[in-house]
Amino acid sequence: MTSRKGKKTLKGLRQKYGSSVRKKYTKTFKLLKQKRQCPNCGAIKIKRLSKGIWKCYSCDFTVTGGAYDVKIPQLSKS
Ligand SMILES: [Zn+2]
Repeated sequence: MTSRKGKKTLKGLRQKYGSSVRKKYTKTFKLLKQKRQCPNCGAIKIKRLSKGIWKCYSCDFTVTGGAYDVKIPQLSKS
């Protein structure tokens, strides 16, 4: 009997598009749906309005950031 603990991808895409695309999708989706704190009031009510725009529903604070995270991912120096 094999363990199903190591399942890493979400159900949404099923067997479509190939495994690497599904893994990337899962990673991005989890990052997007993560609970995060508002930089203004500290409440965990900040949600994405559209690409790069984040809004806190507790204090109506709007902030720009990355497409899938409030913080913009740092580019590696090379
Ligand atoms: Zn807030």
